[in-house]
Amino acid sequence: MPHRTLLAANDNPFQSVSDFFTSSTWDFMLRMAIVVAVALWLACAYWVFKDARRRIDDKVLLTVAALTGLVFGPLGLIVYAIVRPPEYLDDVRERDLEVRMMEQRLADEQRCSFCKTPVRDDYLVCPTCGRRLRTVCRSCRRPVEPQWRVCPYCEAEVHGAPVASEPARR
Ligand SMILES: [Zn+2]
Ligand SMILES: [Zn+2]
Repeated sequence: MPHRTLLAANDNPFQSVSDFFTSSTWDFMLRMAIVVAVALWLACAYWVFKDARRRIDDKVLLTVAALTGLVFGPLGLIVYAIVRPPEYLDDVRERDLEVRMMEQRLADEQRCSFCKTPVRDDYLVCPTCGRRLRTVCRSCRRPVEPQWRVCPYCEAEVHGAPVASEPARR
């Protein structure tokens, strides 16, 4: 038998190549390649799942995305990266909150902060509950905001302006 192998090696110049592919080195490399491929596959699936969780609220869609990553590996990742929602859920929520707060602030500015009666910019007290909204400048009698220190109309100092929390009516 060893004699025949030797003969074959002499006859066939590709024998050494063929030997390499049946050798344990090749076997080891193949195994390593499979391990690396599986690790890469799982990493893709994990990345898709992790990213999808931050972008997708819907449970069904999230499952579909996670399965795409798990079943199709790197290909699934590419497809997911193309079709995924462009924004993180946190960013969307934060923006919604900001918009709502801005609307609230706008709405608050035109209402009495105590009884929510709509008031105008130049009202000194709320017509419904009598709470003081603004004071008047002592020198020019124009309405000034409680936080102002100087009257913007006549440059007079605004002294001890009563804060909006104390009622004007006694
Ligand atoms: Zn009021
Ligand atoms: Zn003034």
